[in-house]
Amino acid sequence: MPDPTLQIYADPTFAMASEQFRVLADYLNLDSNIRARLIAPKRAIAVTLPVHRDDGSITVFEGYRVQHHLALGPTKGGTRFHPGVSLGEVAALAMWMSWKCALTGLPYGGAKGGVTLNPTELSRRELEAVSRRYMQEMIPFVGPHVDIMGPDMGTNEQVMAWFMDTYSVYRGFAVPEIVTGKPVSIGGTSGRREATGRGVVYLIERALNMLKLPPHQCTAVVQGFGNVGSVTALGLAYRDGMKVIGISDASSAFYNEKGIDIDAAEKHALEHGNLAGFDGADSINANELLTLKCDVLVPAAVEGVITERNAAKLQCRVLAEAANGPTTPDADRILFDRWEEIFVIPDILCNAGGVIVSYFEWVQGLQNFFWNETEIADKLFRILEQAFTAMIKRSREAKIPHRMSAMAIGVERVLAAKKSRGLFP
Ligand code: NAD
Repeated sequence: MPDPTLQIYADPTFAMASEQFRVLADYLNLDSNIRARLIAPKRAIAVTLPVHRDDGSITVFEGYRVQHHLALGPTKGGTRFHPGVSLGEVAALAMWMSWKCALTGLPYGGAKGGVTLNPTELSRRELEAVSRRYMQEMIPFVGPHVDIMGPDMGTNEQVMAWFMDTYSVYRGFAVPEIVTGKPVSIGGTSGRREATGRGVVYLIERALNMLKLPPHQCTAVVQGFGNVGSVTALGLAYRDGMKVIGISDASSAFYNEKGIDIDAAEKHALEHGNLAGFDGADSINANELLTLKCDVLVPAAVEGVITERNAAKLQCRVLAEAANGPTTPDADRILFDRWEEIFVIPDILCNAGGVIVSYFEWVQGLQNFFWNETEIADKLFRILEQAFTAMIKRSREAKIPHRMSAMAIGVERVLAAKKSRGLFP
């Protein structure tokens, strides 16, 4: 990270996002002035959140929001509640959101937010207090035409409802379009909860189709069993008839060569809060999960799980990056050498279903006119199809890996907007 203006973001995830950008910028032959304008986040906000705990004590949590660029419209991005959240991680996720929104043609710059905490260690009341305090601190910096929040790891519809309520109480009237991923009862859209996983499944089907592999004869392994992982596993198993042979979450990992009953796993996770104790498969070491022999591998949890240590050992045909940043740049170089064996669906495309349906939710909220779930799914698949086709076309024509192709499309669109608008003197 040579640029001193970026030192406040020093963090392994930001280093990953920066290295991906550097590789792409070298390929596009961008000059240093343009690189600096593209990579540096426009705004970064750090806040402290003092919250009364149930035992009467006070804990001060740290929260962040990064708005990466403002050239194409308001910024958009989820909020993460996780112990690993840092300013640098949030900045990296905001940058990826920028390329993702531009790749899919959404009129947004990327943003991301987060609070450094473990949501499973907080009571519901404490979680509500943190959520409301976070939105309260963010009020000067967000708005339906400024920056729109959504869910990410560790947050859900309920947290979005608390965000929406806090902002609305401050304004004095309901402002549902301040967040996406909220419950349908307060202006959320049908199909948002499933959107990311649904998009992942659609893109896996497209990849398998290109490889001439019938989905019902394929096997899959899914890491992470939260919103994205569970919806993806359910789709692969019951929409495509695929055998899901491996699943995991932060608590445990499981393998069953005959195929796991994903419905039963989901019921177990809902009942117990995680997969620990699930008896429909054998327990395995979490590290072994990613290198199991399978047709489709779906990392749907945290960043940096595919590294230079395991990339050469992957035994899948399709790597569907449902999580943000699951593959390190070192691993990426190994995967590029294996491009004929492994079809990579890069994260900025693979998990774009979430922000695409969030965009639909925002548009519906602004115009107070709502679409049904079939219309939402249809529009979602059309946007994903366009982005997928554009990525494949450029990758083939320029003979570059899928990630580079997808990023090139996104980065060039942001650059074109910045060039058209020019520099404020
Ligand atoms: P979630 O909180 O609903 O679920 C996360 C899951 O990952 C949980 O099952 C958790 O136990 C598991 N997990 C955490 N650490 C793990 C580890 N080290 N190994 C295995 N499992 C682990 O989160 P989510 O919304 O499903 O998000 C998952 C990923 O998808 C994140 O990278 C997120 O940024 C990305 N994403 C989410 C959305 C969305 O709409 N929710 C959209 C785009 C991208």
